[in-house]
Amino acid sequence: MSAARAVDVIVVGGGSCGSVVAARLSEDPSCSVMLLEAGSGFGSLGDVPQDILDARILPIGPQSAWVDTYRAELTPSLTRTVARGRVLGGSGAVNGGYFIRARPSDFDAWPTSWSFDDVLPYYCKLENDMDFSGSFHGDAGPMPVSRVTEDSMSPLTEMFVDAARRAGFADDPDKNSPRSAGGIGPVPRNIFRGVRTNAAVAYLLPASSRANLTVLDGARALAVTFDGMRANGVTLARGQSVEHLRADRVILCAGSVRTPQLLMLSGIGPARHMVEKGISVKLDHPRVGRGFSDHPEVGVYYELSDPSVSRSPIEVVLHVDDLEIRPYSVPFDRMIPGLAIGDPMIGVGLMRPQSRGDITLRTDDPADTPLVRYRYLETESDRSALSAGLGMIGDMMGGVAPLATVVGDPLLGRLGTSLHLSGSCAMGDDGSVLDDSCRVRGIDGLYVLDTSAFPVVPTRGPHATAIMLAERGADLVRGTVA
Ligand SMILES: Cc1cc2nc3c(=O)[nH]c(=O)nc-3n(C[C@H](O)[C@H](O)[C@H](O)COP(=O)(O)OP(=O)(O)OC[C@H]3O[C@@H](n4cnc5c(N)ncnc54)[C@H](O)[C@@H]3O)c2cc1C
Repeated sequence: MSAARAVDVIVVGGGSCGSVVAARLSEDPSCSVMLLEAGSGFGSLGDVPQDILDARILPIGPQSAWVDTYRAELTPSLTRTVARGRVLGGSGAVNGGYFIRARPSDFDAWPTSWSFDDVLPYYCKLENDMDFSGSFHGDAGPMPVSRVTEDSMSPLTEMFVDAARRAGFADDPDKNSPRSAGGIGPVPRNIFRGVRTNAAVAYLLPASSRANLTVLDGARALAVTFDGMRANGVTLARGQSVEHLRADRVILCAGSVRTPQLLMLSGIGPARHMVEKGISVKLDHPRVGRGFSDHPEVGVYYELSDPSVSRSPIEVVLHVDDLEIRPYSVPFDRMIPGLAIGDPMIGVGLMRPQSRGDITLRTDDPADTPLVRYRYLETESDRSALSAGLGMIGDMMGGVAPLATVVGDPLLGRLGTSLHLSGSCAMGDDGSVLDDSCRVRGIDGLYVLDTSAFPVVPTRGPHATAIMLAERGADLVRGTVA
């Protein structure tokens, strides 16, 4: 191991949240920041790979160089391969580009210092909304937000909007408004003129010339190191070399699968489990990796003679009660290079599921993927809500498009996940992993600022909320929270 370098702050993971945190903290020239990203990086917009910027492509197929894949158990009898971004920009660099705020009532489940009134200024600060202005919207933030217009919708989207209106659902033109009451409308997206803007492009690239900000790509954190009960750095692997980097503060932004794994590899987590894996216990934290939530999604495949042209994946959504109906604008094999599933699909997402999952270690090897168990469909209430969604699609679309029939269990046969995994190291009450400033309870100088920190998955896609959390988290770390 080479001799330790020292900085003020280490940020682990240059994904949606880590890019924001590193960029915001390095605004103070007296604060030296080192960002470690396990995947590839880029130093200018011209270096960013085209499939990351092109919103018509989801670069998560079998050959993708930009993802980490792991086997996830959705139910005890259904295992799927699931991808997350492993590249500067993280999952936000490879995602569907749908960028919507959580609902005000979602924050009832958050600590009181994270009320909707507390977070609204940060939702506004992060965005440049091209379509709406006024007190609920931002016009000067790094993330562009725009929506599809009626005259530029894909044929599949148009067909779905017509069917939803015929079925009596109300128009919902501004889904980011706190007053939105659900219904059919264009989904806000971090896509502008066909380009998917991830947080590394929006936040990090403009900060790249700062002398106090270093971005190390291909650098995988192996564990946090400590001086007593204070975090004092990180051990990292880069190529063949292993190095120890010292810092006053360590901020974990490795995403909701790798962050709990990293905590457990560092000896912070459920004591018995860590001992079983041969890890010496620093602090018994029973809830690390436990109780995460995500949105189960069941797909209805259907046939159309002309399944449309090349498009970004999703243009409108329909919100009904706790369901989000997603008429994907193009068949998945057109969007995901190397994917075999070809028919167009309407997804039914359950946005307030009761199921809770957990993440445990398979081994103490940091290169190993952890075991992710979702426990979807365990409650009757989740099963009946999803079945009701399938029935609704049948009623709405039955006369419009021939819907696929599924042999066997109608839910299990179509079950997937929205890839919105959240809350694997949640903030909350005294027993929670994090306090309401996202500090790991019981350890000084160690923070978690990514989707692991959410108390529960929001009832909308998490990406905009992830960036809001990172914006506000950076202010909490530097003591300037609004
Ligand atoms: C395919 C896909 C589609 C999605 N579509 C949408 C959508 O349309 N709308 C929406 O709202 N949400 C969507 N999501 C979810 C959303 O993108 C994520 O919730 C969000 O980006 C997570 O942000 P994060 O910062 O928590 O983690 P990530 O963005 O995943 O960042 C984690 C980063 O840490 C790095 N890392 C991990 N371990 C280490 C380590 N040990 N050392 C150094 N670096 C490490 C990773 O390489 C990665 O870059 C999608 C997710 C996926 C995967």
